[in-house]
Amino acid sequence: MSVKQSIPYEQTELYKIRHSTAHVMAQAVMEMFPGQAKIAIGPPIADGFYYDFDLPRSLTPEDLAAVEKRMRQIIAARHKFQRREVSADEARAEFKDQPYKVELIDGLDKGGVDEYGNPTNEKPVISFYTHDTFTDLCRGPHVEHTGQINPSAIKLMHIAGAYWRGDANRPQLQRIYGTAWKTADELKDHLWKLEEARKRDHRKLGRELGLFYFSDDVGPGLPLFTPKGEMLRHLMEGYVRDTQTRYGYQHVWTGHLVKEDLYRRSGHYDNYKDSMFPPMEDEGVTFRLKPMNCPSHMTLYKEMGTHSYRDLPLRFAEFATLYRYEKTGELSGLTRVRALTQDDCHIFCRPDQIQSEFALCLNLIREVLSRYKFTDYRVRLSLRGSEGKYVADDEKWALATDALKAALDANGVEYEAVEGEAAFYGPKADFLARDVLGREWQLSTIQVDFIQPARLGCEYVAEDGQPHTPVLLHRAVTGSTERFLGVIIEHFAGAFPVWLSPVQAVIIPIADRHAEYANKVAEQLQAHGFRVEVDARGERMQAKIRDAQLQKIPYMLVAGDKEAEAGAVAVRLRSGEDLKAKPVAEVIEMMKSAVVNGD
Ligand SMILES: [Zn+2]
Ligand SMILES: [Zn+2]
Repeated sequence: MSVKQSIPYEQTELYKIRHSTAHVMAQAVMEMFPGQAKIAIGPPIADGFYYDFDLPRSLTPEDLAAVEKRMRQIIAARHKFQRREVSADEARAEFKDQPYKVELIDGLDKGGVDEYGNPTNEKPVISFYTHDTFTDLCRGPHVEHTGQINPSAIKLMHIAGAYWRGDANRPQLQRIYGTAWKTADELKDHLWKLEEARKRDHRKLGRELGLFYFSDDVGPGLPLFTPKGEMLRHLMEGYVRDTQTRYGYQHVWTGHLVKEDLYRRSGHYDNYKDSMFPPMEDEGVTFRLKPMNCPSHMTLYKEMGTHSYRDLPLRFAEFATLYRYEKTGELSGLTRVRALTQDDCHIFCRPDQIQSEFALCLNLIREVLSRYKFTDYRVRLSLRGSEGKYVADDEKWALATDALKAALDANGVEYEAVEGEAAFYGPKADFLARDVLGREWQLSTIQVDFIQPARLGCEYVAEDGQPHTPVLLHRAVTGSTERFLGVIIEHFAGAFPVWLSPVQAVIIPIADRHAEYANKVAEQLQAHGFRVEVDARGERMQAKIRDAQLQKIPYMLVAGDKEAEAGAVAVRLRSGEDLKAKPVAEVIEMMKSAVVNGD
């Protein structure tokens, strides 16, 4: 297996297409408001591009349609994109009626910012790109001519307000978002994914499926889980807990409050104090709500007595609810909360065990991700850079880096190595998994740490009879229960695999007289450990089936006269598939194998 290097977006054909389409859009908008349109910036972004305008009036959806139509004409004319370098004075003269551009040119002239106003180290060359009647301050790159933009693969998406340079004290501009692809099919697929993402939004599905709520009475970013939501949490955590136990982990519990002094000694206070909740004072001692577990686990390691080299590795795992002070504006559903339950683990090992422990983590992570049907993921290995923020000696870094690479290679895991991205205390590997819509989520992390165990005085007695400092591996599989639940709600569109469904089957009596039989079937299923409900409401059967489908319950078991007589149920799946009548015993076997197979 090898190191995989992905091409930076800026060097791809799509980037050029989107950037060029932004220019074409700007031309069309300027033609719509001759002499009045002021243009700001228009960069490509993930999946598309935007351009910011200062216009005499608000744009309407009809305007967007007209702009798009004009864009297709410009594209059809196959105008060449021509680059030229200019001096700052020439640039200012050419853009004398465009105050935003002049401000950008002044920035480029002074140095330190690029043509979008972002900080840069490069010494900027001022360049223009011209096609047809439109010229932009731009460093490119672009396609050769507008004909290389596929007119059936572009679409203007929506209009939003945006402050010039993101500053609320500066003018508010109108931002037009657009998307551009190579083919019409790619555009179609992108639009389908957007629509699907809207339907799958975990905040929307969380409400519809009755899984969790947020309340102003409790506070922002502090979710409340319903019985169904808590069942999901319980199943998710139970699954990871069982898997960890199988991999030789030991579960611990270290509470919610910790003396602030411990975080000062571990170094977390200096690095994380802004994400901690304010301190609590009691009898002259300052406490903090726990924002991370590492110092607690290391303290526990020390309290448990002397450790011999033979006792290592020691793997402490905890589902710990941590509290992080996120700004209210940055909170978002379950993916960004203030109370999060990390599936956190700390492995204390000898330096010669880094490779085997890392390999064990890799396997555990792969097993867990595949249980959740994340089969498409990549690993980003963050290594030390040449600059000086890195502590610990060269030998340790080399040892850990080699161990990580060797473990990845031995397990056939493709990875991308990024120099200079490691934390100051050691290299790390992140797992980025794609969901069914192709969106990438950073889920699992394994981090090597040479520093914290020494800071807090963790030791083991080595073969030489002397105290040595263990290496610490920090590891999370799903990250946090809350965020992971948000991700999988969208990944499965709320239709969880049978093993994870809060309600696995609903039994639907056709008429009141079948309620007793329905209850009997429910008891049989419950005796086999299944989570079931009986829908005894006075609704029509079709309405009950529809409701169960909306609740994404895997099995709907309909019970009428014929079924009661035969000891059977008529089986419907949430997909709408009708499996007809089956003996209850057969249904139980079918459900059991679905659980085992992870269906
Ligand atoms: Zn440009
Ligand atoms: Zn940690």
